[in-house]
Amino acid sequence: MDYNIAVIEGDGIGPEIIDSALQILTAVGEKFNVSFAFNKLSAGGNAIDSLGTPLPDSTLMACLNSDSVLLGAVGGPKWDGLPGDMRPEKALLSIRKELGLYANLRPARLLPELKDACPLRKEIADEGFDIMIVRELTGGMYFGERGRREGPDGQEAFDTECYSEAEIERIGIIAFELAEKRTGRLISIDKANVLESSRLWREVMHRLALRYPHVEISDMLVDNAAMQLIRNPNQFDVIVTSNMFGDILSDEASQITGSIGLLPSASLGATKRGMYEPIHGSAPDIAGRDMANPIATILSAAMMLRLSFELEEAASLIETAVSRVLAKGLRTADIAEPGTPDTEVLSCSQMTMAVLKEIEV
Ligand code: NAD
Repeated sequence: MDYNIAVIEGDGIGPEIIDSALQILTAVGEKFNVSFAFNKLSAGGNAIDSLGTPLPDSTLMACLNSDSVLLGAVGGPKWDGLPGDMRPEKALLSIRKELGLYANLRPARLLPELKDACPLRKEIADEGFDIMIVRELTGGMYFGERGRREGPDGQEAFDTECYSEAEIERIGIIAFELAEKRTGRLISIDKANVLESSRLWREVMHRLALRYPHVEISDMLVDNAAMQLIRNPNQFDVIVTSNMFGDILSDEASQITGSIGLLPSASLGATKRGMYEPIHGSAPDIAGRDMANPIATILSAAMMLRLSFELEEAASLIETAVSRVLAKGLRTADIAEPGTPDTEVLSCSQMTMAVLKEIEV
């Protein structure tokens, strides 16, 4: 089987971490007799410099014609002063929109080997957690009607949270299907005690539940969820929520893993084609120094194999290789605990070699 992957290295550490992921994909491809064609494309700050736009038409067309998109990160201080439509991040928003990617999947897993990096109390960290957050990505308040007007007390501003049944149903289906493949537990997070849009959200989720008898669904209010995530994260498996609640809760969940350099993400739509990227940015402070942690990007590639190409065994092989490397005490600088015995600090390329070695055994 051949897969055509649109590859956007982006800016800062983007080229370094993407190089790692491509090496891993090539090795896994050889092992499973699958061939990956990598089509390297320009987007973000480097595209602004060379072509005058964050997302050249040729890049968008190539993404639309690909089997999936793998992205490093875009942006950096050099482009911070540009107006909104000309900023590097505009490339990401446009790709998501043009590819119809309405679901953002962010796993937040506390690896047993890294529980010392978890900022929660030791007894909570010791239990570990493995959460998959499914966030609606193209609706809700971030896309609703907004504006300013004159009111009796001066200027007023408003943003509207609006969801259609169809929008809720399609994100719900992704969450139910994921829950079916995991432990069968799904928590839908809303604010149904106050918001009408949340009451519709809840109705649609409950209606969908009839189609998925093997999934146990429960509701949780968003304020309680924010608290429960730090009190008892182990109670969560799959979470489904709206764009704004998901934005906030997924950042909270990533922080309790204690390691931004380890967390992958996927954005999906109605087709198998998705966009896969680490959750972190372009880390300009360490760019070009072979210091970046490539694991979030390597795990994003594993998500691509599982979710877009249905290569479950290949995806698991990558994840197991990463766990083994960490179990051996090998770390990049961002996840190294100073003074911890039996750990060794590696560069980005050394970490890549360590993961490759585990894949090739
Ligand atoms: P950042 O995630 O780039 O960096 C935050 C901190 O984490 C830095 O100290 C950085 O060195 C460290 N870090 C991040 N990834 C790391 C990795 N893989 N290995 C080791 N350390 C890592 O966030 P920021 O500094 O707020 O943003 C920098 C630029 O990235 C900005 O221009 C921002 O707009 C952009 N950004 C892009 C994306 C994206 O492309 N999806 C996401 C977030 C931020």
